[in-house]
Amino acid sequence: TQQKFSSAPPRLGFGTGKIPLGLKRKGLRIVVTGGAGFVGSHLVDRLIARGDSVIVVDNFFTGRKENVMHHFGNPKFELIRHDVVEPLLLEVDQIYHLACPASPVHYKFNPTNVVGTLNMLGLAKRVGARFLLTSTSEVYGDPLQHPQKETYWGNVNPIGVRSCYDEGKRTAETLTMDYHRGAGVEVRIARIFNTYGPRMCIDDGRVVSNFVAQALRKEPLTVYGDGKQTRSFQYVSDLVEGLMRLMEGEHIGPFNLGNPGEFTMLELAEVVQETIDPNAKIEFRPNTEDDPHKRKPDISRAKELLGWEPKVSLRKGLPLMVSDFRQRVFGDHQEGSN
Ligand code: NAD
Ligand code: UDP
Ligand code: UDP
Repeated sequence: TQQKFSSAPPRLGFGTGKIPLGLKRKGLRIVVTGGAGFVGSHLVDRLIARGDSVIVVDNFFTGRKENVMHHFGNPKFELIRHDVVEPLLLEVDQIYHLACPASPVHYKFNPTNVVGTLNMLGLAKRVGARFLLTSTSEVYGDPLQHPQKETYWGNVNPIGVRSCYDEGKRTAETLTMDYHRGAGVEVRIARIFNTYGPRMCIDDGRVVSNFVAQALRKEPLTVYGDGKQTRSFQYVSDLVEGLMRLMEGEHIGPFNLGNPGEFTMLELAEVVQETIDPNAKIEFRPNTEDDPHKRKPDISRAKELLGWEPKVSLRKGLPLMVSDFRQRVFGDHQEGSN
């Protein structure tokens, strides 16, 4: 039988990270590792807007200073250039641990998921902070269950080209639960499904950013394989809302955070054509090894226990990232913009 969904123990009440929901509070000290990246920077915006003090820890491997520059000068915001593979001493209430080379192009041979997660759990243990891990739908591998529930143990090739990421995150989940059980650290685990939006890395090879940049540059959209493989695409604001509810709530998880709307890559290409350029061509390329055939979250658990579900459909969300991409692809020239 598969593991039971865990729920958090009663709060002990020391450290401001454990203030019960609903109580008026002064503002927390929160560290966001990977906070200069795509998801992290949107999360930082929300936390700062809520009145919390935020420390971003990022080595700028794929993140950019530009993503958080609008907070420079705000006394509640700090940016530290640091690789989480090295130990780090801070005094904080909550840790959102997002630091991770998140795209296949970047993640090979990188120990961040294991060593970086261990360090952040060590930090959480030392200061009594609550720790949230951003895991991934990749822990399900090429899933034999569809849609995927949190109770599914997954189908991951341990020696494949994607294993470094998949197994890295699986190990990160294991470490997180071990620190919870062994050291009493308050933890939360999110399993994030494909997410898109403004500030996504333009050239990290993920499909939404590839198609949008290609359509804007009048290049053909590169569909890998036959394009019939599916993914479920979540807009970034929905994810950030889910992460914050998870951190503030009573349940450890893991929770699937994703949009259950399922699209083939050919259907995604059509939505990009409709949104940006109906004349965009499609070019087929060989697929990568071990590419999951389908992926779609079962989000019943998050709906029930976090009161969360995504609000932004692909057709509504895609245009919201296009203006950001247009600016970054064309810089100041604005060629091709309309
Ligand atoms: P991203 O690449 O934009 O952000 C990751 C950030 O971590 C970057 O700013 C990078 O510079 C930083 N980083 C990487 N290694 C580091 C290290 N050793 N020390 C310090 N900082 C480091 O990616 P993202 O899409 O924002 O992903 C954020 C998190 O969400 C990741 O943990 C990722 O695995 C998870 N996730 C994202 C998606 C998605 O579709 N975007 C899906 C599943 C899981
Ligand atoms: N760690 C850290 N910051 C802290 C506390 C710990 O970076 O504030 C690191 C520490 O260097 C170690 C890891 O987290 O590599 C795990 O710490 P823990 O105390 O759990 O393990 P131990 O040091 O006992 O092996
Ligand atoms: N993909 C594609 N064209 C691209 C980039 C990716 O067809 O230019 C496909 C890829 O083969 C995979 C899907 O899109 O089937 C999602 O890939 P991505 O790397 O975005 O996310 P992940 O595989 O991690 O879900």
